[in-house]
Parts: sequence; C-alpha cells; structure tokens
Amino acid sequence: MRTEMQRVLILGGGYAGMLAAARLAQKGLPLDITLVDSSDHFVERIRLHQVAAGQPIPRRLMTNLLPKTVTFRQGRVVGLNPVERRVSLETATGPDILAFDWLIYALGSGIDVTSVPGVQEYAYRLGGYEAAQQLHTALQAQAERGGRVLVVGGGLTGIESATEIAESFSTLSVELLTAGTLGYDLAPAGQTHLRHTLDRLRISLREAARVTRLTSNEAHLADGSTVPFDICLWTSGFSVSPLAAEAGLPVNGRGQLLTDSFLRVVGHDHIFAVGDAAETFGGREEALRMACATAMPMGAYAADALAALVMGRTPKPFRFSYVIRCISLGRRDGLVQTVDSNDRPTSRIISGRAGALVKEMICRYTVMGVQGERALRLPLYTWPQPKVERTEWLASTPGEVAS
Ligand SMILES: Cc1cc2nc3c(=O)[nH]c(=O)nc-3n(C[C@H](O)[C@H](O)[C@H](O)COP(=O)(O)OP(=O)(O)OC[C@H]3O[C@@H](n4cnc5c(N)ncnc54)[C@H](O)[C@@H]3O)c2cc1C
Repeated sequence: MRTEMQRVLILGGGYAGMLAAARLAQKGLPLDITLVDSSDHFVERIRLHQVAAGQPIPRRLMTNLLPKTVTFRQGRVVGLNPVERRVSLETATGPDILAFDWLIYALGSGIDVTSVPGVQEYAYRLGGYEAAQQLHTALQAQAERGGRVLVVGGGLTGIESATEIAESFSTLSVELLTAGTLGYDLAPAGQTHLRHTLDRLRISLREAARVTRLTSNEAHLADGSTVPFDICLWTSGFSVSPLAAEAGLPVNGRGQLLTDSFLRVVGHDHIFAVGDAAETFGGREEALRMACATAMPMGAYAADALAALVMGRTPKPFRFSYVIRCISLGRRDGLVQTVDSNDRPTSRIISGRAGALVKEMICRYTVMGVQGERALRLPLYTWPQPKVERTEWLASTPGEVAS
C-alpha cells in the first residue's frame, strides 16, 4: 500500500458521486478527496416532479451533506485530460485546473433536447431545481385560467410528473403522450392499476404517438396529427454530457463511458465511471438502466473498489440484481412492481397508499444513505446482488485486476 497522500477527484455530486465521496472518506486512507459540482446544493432529481407541483422539498448544501474531510469545489467541468490526469473547471472566480491520481466520473445525465426540433425552445424540462421551479410558476399561472398540460414521455419521469401535476392542479387538463404502450414493462396488475390511476386523476392518455416536432403551442406527431398545449413538459430520453467522448475516453452510442467489471473506464485503470454517465452490466447481459437505484450502488462500489486498490487488494467485480421498480402516482398513490434479478416484472405489486409509502421511504433512503455513511463512518449502504463464487470472478476477469 502506498502511504503518501493520493488525490481523488469526484466529478458530479448527484446520487452516485455523493455516496462515493461519503463512503470513501470514512475509510481512513491517505486520500485527499475533492468533489466538484456546478451546484452548491444537492439536487434530489427523483423529487423534481414534486418541486414542479409546488411541494416544499428540503434543499441541502453539499457542504452539509459531505464529510468534513472532503473538499467541495463549486464549478462546471469543461474539460478532462485522462493522460495528464487533469480536469478543467469554470468557476465563479475564473477558470481552474485540478489534478488527480484517481478520478470518479459521476456527471449523470440530462434530458435530450436535440433529437426533436422545438423541445429546447417550447418545452419545460425537469433538468434541475430551478427548471422545476420555473415549471411550477408556469403551472400556477395557467391554473388560474385553466388550460392544457401536455406531458411527453411514458417512462417513469413522465408518469410521475403527469400524476403529480394532475393531483395538484385540478383546473388543468393533463394529457400524457407516449411513443409506445404505457406500462409495457409492468405485470398486468401493475398496468391495470396505472390506467385506473390515470382515469381517477382525469389524465388523458395517447399511446403509439411519436412527436416529431414542437411549435409554440402544438406537438406534431408522426401520423400527421397535432396535439395542442398551453404548457408542454418534455420527459423523453436521458442524454449524457459529451465531455467523456471529447476527452477521448471510450463511450457507447449514447456517450456513456464503457466500464470493466470494476467500474473502471476501459483502458484507464485510474478512472471509475458511475451512475447515468456509465454503461455498466453488473454481471448481467444487458446494461443497467439509468436510475438512482443503480447509480447509488455504483457510487458505493466505486468507493470500495478504489479503497481496495489503494490498499493493494483485489476488489470483487461489481454485481447488481434488480428487486423492485417504484413509481409515485401523486402523493396518495404509488406502484411498487416486483421484478426478477433481470428487471423482468413478476406478478406482485403493492399499490395505493402502501405503494406511495414504500416509494417515499425509498426516496428518503437515498439521502439517508449519504448521511448515514458520513455520520456513522461505516459502509452502511447495501444493494441487492447475486452471489458470485470467488473462483468465478477471478476466472472471469483475467488481467483486469490491479495488484
Ligand atoms: C423527475 C425524475 C424522477 C426520477 N425518479 C426516479 C426514481 O423514482 N427512481 C430511480 O431509480 N431513478 C429516478 N430518476 C432517475 C435518476 O434521477 C437518475 O438516474 C439519477 O439521478 C442518476 O444519478 P447520478 O448520480 O448518475 O447523476 P445525477 O443525479 O444526475 O447527478 C449528476 C451531478 O453532476 C453534476 N454535473 C453534471 N454536469 C456537470 C458539469 N459539467 N460540471 C459540474 N457538475 C456537473 C450535476 O449538477 C449533478 O449534481 C428520476 C429522474 C427524474 C428527472
């Protein structure tokens, strides 16, 4: 084990980056840890639809969540040189450069605004706290005279946003539009509950509707029809920053960093990539989906693996197993769908108030996971993973393990 101080730079203080920082800091290793984020507040992305609906969501300063031994730098990451091990920042006081021995890349994702013309100009997105607040202001003003809210995207964010808005603004008519079939990845009982909930909240649903263009008050569909709106919320498609690709690091078609079984960027043993910004398999055949539920395990794992390597030990490969999928349907209803380890729905669901309660507990657990690691200085955060025999992981990863 090297005893001199090594510099660990964590880019991005979302779910993955914050947990990585909190967990690494409590290991008592000679590490100088710095976390960089463009915001000085932790953004609870999974609650942004609640902010849009006008609910008071606590805002926490990064410095209050992070362990005291972690240095926080507010700034926008604008460049990365993996060979010289440097990161370029734009900060309020001008440009800066940070050097590192180890990097944890956790810059997350945003909403894709380029694939469909007009989204950038005419649609609201839940891109951050301020964006969610702007949407809330617009919804409030519109609610006074009534009007149409169009939510585009039938994924988790679209469903959660449409139900939350419909529950909070009874004078607005809400329409949910999806290119596919709503809830296609739920078991029949889950699909039925979802559709009943939309009916109860008087949300109209249009399926197999692909938007090709937005204008100021209309969505143009592939079949030639148009859907009018006063407010459009675009939730379809996450995209990742081009920064990794621009740095010459290996990425997939979406720009996510390619990782090995230890979440290190392929060909760059000193760089870990975690959360939405990484393509990771976790021992499965399909890449993990972009989710807080996968980002936090990756952040925790990267801290453990980095610590193991610093101590001259061999980390176990990253493994992940799905258990449930949780969807909030307003504040009084929710849907918990059990899934098998490959994320395929099984027959059980928990719905209604019980479902809402489970979802709320999980949302709280995300922040408590970070706070718990910091306060108790123990690796408390755990995640479901399949059992792997030692012989299996040693055999399956020849040459990848640093010693
Ligand atoms: C409304 C909504 C509801 C959701 N609900 C769920 C849910 O119920 N369950 C679930 O599993 N997932 C949910 N998700 C998805 C989930 O939020 C993301 O998958 C998760 O946030 C990914 O975590 P992350 O740490 O990789 O990235 P993020 O949480 O996106 O964090 C990335 C961080 O990097 C910072 N950053 C980015 N670029 C730069 C830069 N250039 N310079 C400096 N800092 C930068 C950002 O400020 C941010 O703090 C939801 C998403 C939305 C929008």
